[in-house]
Parts: sequence; structure tokens; C-alpha cells
Amino acid sequence: MTAVMEAKGLSKHFQARRGLFGGSRGVVRAVDEISFAIAPGHTLGVVGESGCGKTTTAKLVLGLEAPSGGSIQFEGHDLATLDTPGQRRYRKSVQAVFQDPYASLNPRMRISAIIAEPLVTNEKTEAVEVRQRVLELLDLVGLPERSADLFPHEFSGGQRQRIAIARSLVLSPQLVVLDEPVSALDVSIRAQILNLLRNLQTRLGLSYLFIAHDLAAVAHMSHEIVVMYLGKIVESGEARALALEPKHPYTKALFAAALPSHPDERRDEPVLQGEVPSPLAPPSGCHFHPRCPHATARCAQEAPRLRAVEGRFVACHLFD
Ligand code: SF4
Repeated sequence: MTAVMEAKGLSKHFQARRGLFGGSRGVVRAVDEISFAIAPGHTLGVVGESGCGKTTTAKLVLGLEAPSGGSIQFEGHDLATLDTPGQRRYRKSVQAVFQDPYASLNPRMRISAIIAEPLVTNEKTEAVEVRQRVLELLDLVGLPERSADLFPHEFSGGQRQRIAIARSLVLSPQLVVLDEPVSALDVSIRAQILNLLRNLQTRLGLSYLFIAHDLAAVAHMSHEIVVMYLGKIVESGEARALALEPKHPYTKALFAAALPSHPDERRDEPVLQGEVPSPLAPPSGCHFHPRCPHATARCAQEAPRLRAVEGRFVACHLFD
């Protein structure tokens, strides 16, 4: 199956100043030689603690950041080498839904104009057709036709996220980047939005890059998952198997920390032992070794390579 999008050895390094008063500059390897592919109609979930590189990965895929190394392949071509029409096709084919539906909708625009904006900007379309497309999309995301003439403040958080989803679909994309799409919403609304996203995926054959710190949501939504730690992929594989039986000590800790101690308790951000090290000075060898219960002397010296282990990929010396 040809991937909708493929990242090969993708990196994003930032120059950063050390310390409060500047001084020598360091390099933050926010994303460090990661590779993944997103199949048509599939969801790839990306998990990891804050600062692991999830958001930078999303920005690279959306073309909001240029890679420092590696490539993103779209329709078999490197994004960096696409001509102008190719780049336009890519921008239309890859859309996004962000965390905060309050911030992402212009409060002074009517819903019809908000949803239609990408269409009006990118394509010459008759006003009647634009209106028709807006009404189609409102129906698709479960909102009544009269919503078209209202303003964002007249909607709840969940309804606003439905509007943001409708807007992301107006150009008929192949891939939608979902960056924490339900974390700003009430718990009671989250399942509805996730179900809507799954239904839309089935109906439209969409692919998703799903980024969230809610591991239960990622496991529920994704076909494949990649686990990131300090810019690197430490484990990847089929979502259900990875969530039920994680192999890498970091994945294990992440999923164990996400389990509530009481069924009524809901934890959003998994809390692991120890702090995430500074990305300016990551630990030597395996970056996870200061927090790993299985670390040996070798782990502090030698970085483990991602290798195939029983149908998935794991970067850990325990699996050499
Ligand atoms: Fe732990 Fe060593 Fe594996 Fe890193 S390589 S996860 S420190 S056992």
C-alpha cells in the first residue's frame, strides 16, 4: 500500500542559547532522524511527554517548519523538490485541527465564511457552490444548516471543534493532522468528537496524524503508534499490540502512568518518575537511561538503534 505521506530520517534542530545571559549556543534536536509512514485511511498516533518532539513533528508535516535533515515524501516526491503546483497540492491535501477551538476560529466571522475561507482563498468557486459545500460540511459534522449564519461565540466548545473539523475538510484533504483535538474540551464531549473523527475517516477515507497526551484516546483512535522520547522514536508498531503489551521501558512507564488508580479518576498527562532531561543536554547513550529501571553501564555509553522486534520496532539494548 502506497503511503499518503512518509517521513525519512526527518530532523529538526534548533540553535538555542545556554543559560539566562546567553553564552555559548547549543543545539536542541527537537526531532532527530525519525521515520514513519501514514497509510491511506489509517491513523498514526504520536505519543510522549511534553517536549518529546510531537508538536515539532506536526509542524514539519504541515510545512510550518523546514526540516534540518531527512525528507517528507508526498505522492512519492520529496516535499523540498516539489514545484509550485506540487506544493499547492500538498498544502490542500494536508490540513490540521488544533487543540483550542476558541482560539482557532475568528470571532468576527460568520461560520459560513470561516468554513469556506480555505476554499475561497485556494480555488475559484461560484458563491452558490461555496454555500452548498458549507452546508454539506455542516451536515457531515452534525451541525444544523442555520449554524452557517451564526458567529463562533454562539456555540459550545464541542460545537466549535466540529466547525474547525468542517473547515479542515473543505478542500477534501487526504491527511488531517489532529494536534490535541479534544484536550481543551469537557470530558463528556471528548468521546463524541473522537467518534465523529472516526466516522469521517470511514466515510471519506481520511488519514490522520493524531497527536495527544491522552494515551487512551490515542490507543482508541490509532492503527499504528510511534512513541517519542527527546526527539527520537523509541518504539513503534500496531496500536493495540503496543498499548496492551509495550516493550520499551519508556512505553511501559508511559502507559502504566496513564492508568488511573481508581476507575472514576481521569488523568490527562501521564506522570512518570523523574523529570524529562533538558533537550539542550540530553543524557549520553540511551537518552532514557537516568530514568530507566533496567539501565546498565552500556546504556549510558551506547545509543540503542531502532530494530525490528516481534512485529514492531524498539530502540533498547534489552532487545539486542
Ligand atoms: Fe533502559 Fe538501557 Fe533500554 Fe535505554 S537501552 S531503555 S536505559 S534498558
